[in-house]
Amino acid sequence: MLEALEVSTHRRSEMIDITAEVLEVVRRSGVRSGLCVVWVPHTTAGVTVNENADPSVRRDILMALERLVPRDAGYAHSEGNSDSHIKASLVGHSATLIVDEGSLLLGTWQGIYLCEFDGPRRRRVVVKIIGGAGEGG
Ligand code: ZN
Repeated sequence: MLEALEVSTHRRSEMIDITAEVLEVVRRSGVRSGLCVVWVPHTTAGVTVNENADPSVRRDILMALERLVPRDAGYAHSEGNSDSHIKASLVGHSATLIVDEGSLLLGTWQGIYLCEFDGPRRRRVVVKIIGGAGEGG
């Protein structure tokens, strides 16, 4: 099963919690045991799994990425968003999650985040569920 989620971002850099939307895709798939691949088909956005309780963790991640990859550092790319491309590659474009008992095997404090680095925009997040209705599917 393959589904695309549409996500609107509101800032240039932002981490948006998409856990509930991905969980909904898993439930609709009917898969009880398998894998869930979350894929972001963009060059200036990515996906990661991290803390979902304290929002300051997200702020710190974005701040650290900003320090690592400043917006203006004499890049060659004429579009002016090289920092966005670099941050997206650092974060990565996919997350693989385990589907167990029809739900996602996430830690208590883990959430799935779309990482926007060149917003605001409309983004697509593709979710692929692989597995079956039974164990080991
Ligand atoms: Zn570019």
